[in-house]
Amino acid sequence: MTVRSILNAKGADVATIDPRASLADAAHMLAARRIGAIVVKGPANSVAGILSERDIVRAVSTYGAASLDRTVDETMTREVVTCEAKDSINAVMEKMTAGKFRHVPVVDHNKLVGIISIGDVVKARLAQMESETRALQDYVAGS
Ligand code: AMP
Repeated sequence: MTVRSILNAKGADVATIDPRASLADAAHMLAARRIGAIVVKGPANSVAGILSERDIVRAVSTYGAASLDRTVDETMTREVVTCEAKDSINAVMEKMTAGKFRHVPVVDHNKLVGIISIGDVVKARLAQMESETRALQDYVAGS
């Protein structure tokens, strides 16, 4: 199973934000869209960074209420681990486990084309396991 199969099911929509936006704007977007991370846009649809709810919590803990006026650029993670549509879901799971993060943007020639969350990965793996179990049950019942 590949990243492409997840994107085909969930679509290519990705929440993005300008690096000059404030953390208050980012928090509003996360809450409104009920998501945990936003990709920070670079030139030509590239990925300049990623900002997750954890980054906002950390900023509030360090700077207090004033943190909400800080920019996304000051707070985001710049070294973003990405994947490609052809990658296997197992490879993405390994990246998430090794990096201890729950979101991986999908790129095609350095351009953002989607995002995979740990929830998407778990959903896909469950569906795969259920279909394998059904196939085995059918095989045993038919034999
Ligand atoms: P998350 O678990 O996705 O909420 O993110 C936890 C931390 O990892 C935050 O500091 C994020 O900015 C960072 N992060 C999230 N996704 C990635 C990624 N794909 N590559 C690098 N850092 C990430």
